Amino acid sequence: MTQAYLNYVNGEWKDSEDHIEIFNPANGESLGTVPAMSHADVDYVMASAKNAFPAWRALSYAERAKYLEKAADILYRDAEKIGSTLSKEIAKGLKSAIGEVTRTAEIVDYTAKVGVTMDGEVMEGGNFDPASKNRIAVVRREPVGLVLAISPFNYPVNLAGSKIAPALMGGNVVAFKPPTQGSISGLLLAKAFAESGLPAGVFNTITGRGRVIGDYIVEHPAVNFINFTGSSAVGKNIGKLAGMRPIMLELGGKDAAIVLEDADLDLAAKNIVAGAFGYSGQRCTAVKRVLVMDSVADELVGKVTDLVKGLTVGMPEDNADITPLINTKSADYVQGLIEEAKEKGAKPLFDFKREGNLLYPMVFDNVTTDMRLAWEEPFGPVLPFIRVKSVEEAVEIANKSEYGLQSSVFTRNFPRAFGIAEKLEVGTVHINNKTQRGPDNFPFLGVKDSGAGVQGVKYSIQAMTKVKSVVYAID
Ligand code: NAD
Repeated sequence: MTQAYLNYVNGEWKDSEDHIEIFNPANGESLGTVPAMSHADVDYVMASAKNAFPAWRALSYAERAKYLEKAADILYRDAEKIGSTLSKEIAKGLKSAIGEVTRTAEIVDYTAKVGVTMDGEVMEGGNFDPASKNRIAVVRREPVGLVLAISPFNYPVNLAGSKIAPALMGGNVVAFKPPTQGSISGLLLAKAFAESGLPAGVFNTITGRGRVIGDYIVEHPAVNFINFTGSSAVGKNIGKLAGMRPIMLELGGKDAAIVLEDADLDLAAKNIVAGAFGYSGQRCTAVKRVLVMDSVADELVGKVTDLVKGLTVGMPEDNADITPLINTKSADYVQGLIEEAKEKGAKPLFDFKREGNLLYPMVFDNVTTDMRLAWEEPFGPVLPFIRVKSVEEAVEIANKSEYGLQSSVFTRNFPRAFGIAEKLEVGTVHINNKTQRGPDNFPFLGVKDSGAGVQGVKYSIQAMTKVKSVVYAID
């Protein structure tokens, strides 16, 4: 019998009239149903959260931390169970899926620890102007209110935890909407917060059809802050609908690995392959293009090709490196990029092979800037090499992208690497390492179409709280 999962709202598990059936993208097996909320269901979530806000914000950070620590313990305990469902729901290798849940537990636990250090400060007016020395400011952080947290399909649990935990620590109440493909895992994550004993209404979930509730939740007047991870197209729409309300957006990317002539090519190849093909390339920070100096291009392409030959292709339960993509639309899109690159003269280093939504890994040499593959985010297992003649050319092509998430620079010359890092229009530059998120205490951000706002445990708490200054004058 199909298992029916429910939403967690106002301290109870709640059904809706309508439902969505979720299927395993790798084999089509039904995994269960989730409620498809109506506008009235959403209104009830928002009202419940608002009701819970005054009592929750009145707690100290230390009191709130206790709930998060408990939720983290439950996530550690249930990591295998949640990970196994997650693996089936988004066709992610089983070990990686369990790792995603454990990483979420670590974030939730660490957020509790950082939260209790979020002291305010006292400021002296006289430090600026002697005539103001009788004025003292007590500066503290207040919660923003109701945070709407929306996570994408590729890390539906981890990217939810990294929003929910800092929002709660900051004294906010939360409405969490997981992606449709990832809803069940999102509801299992919710179970950990429910079991932690959080007061009713502090944390709630929303599942449903994008066309029915997508814009509705974003425009909902009860929402005070929108924390979204997903595609740039949806992020831009949210930006328009948000009005004056603060938002945090983590969007798409086209991360470049820039490889200079003095790079350790074995190290570069290893990182490029791991960065490009992890979870079949369905990562915002995946290496999505290599900009390589002409003089070392042949050698690097050879090393990368050899490593790609060693990747396993198959099913998530077998922990294959390359697994089926999330849906047919995605697989068709990647195939389209591959066909266009081939037609325009890029050199494929493998035969194109596709079985359903399973695309075998593909590497292209001699990709040129008139090809879509040079600019678009495939979100699949295809890696383009663009040969360049100078560092200036590499930086120019890297910066021409509409995206600005991360970049890598591979070189043995550190001063040069820092100089290049300064010129790159991205949130983070990795030297001699693949592009990636984490460790999770580091800031994480995208510029241009890759996002707005800074995530990372401390930064996320700061972003979802607002400064309140109370100034008093002494006689
Ligand atoms: P998506 O934009 O299609 O969906 C993301 C989430 O938004 C899902 O929960 C979806 O249900 C919801 N959604 C869709 N339409 C909505 C609307 N109108 N209003 C409100 N919510 C709506 O993205 P996806 O396919 O799930 O994820 C892949 C994308 O996410 C890629 O572009 C990837 O680069 C990006 N991503 C970015 C980061 C980052 O940290 N920068 C991390 C992971 C993924």
